[in-house]
Amino acid sequence: MSAHKPADHEAEYFAREEYERKKAIEEEKHEKMAEGEKAKLKEIHYMKCPKCGMDLVTIDYKGIQIDRCSGCEGVWLDCGELEAVAEFEHGTMSKLFTKVFKVKDEYSEHPGL
Ligand SMILES: [Zn+2]
Repeated sequence: MSAHKPADHEAEYFAREEYERKKAIEEEKHEKMAEGEKAKLKEIHYMKCPKCGMDLVTIDYKGIQIDRCSGCEGVWLDCGELEAVAEFEHGTMSKLFTKVFKVKDEYSEHPGL
């Protein structure tokens, strides 16, 4: 079980590295962008789904504000909220995965079912 830990940290490290690299490229664009243009973009995109463009609806999930798309039902998390959800759900998620894998094992033992 402990073998999963270093791989998780490595994946997290590479994800953060990739984000920082892509963010630096975007920040260069932001600097060249006029303030008026930024305000205009925010006005157009604020509380709109980044994938389908429909309105986002804010729901309170166990004290964490989550924006859910009214169209495609995709979920948007503000800065720090992913960590909050991950921390909160850790126990539940572990249980869920255990259950999923257990069910899968039962199926593979009885493929006819
Ligand atoms: Zn959507």
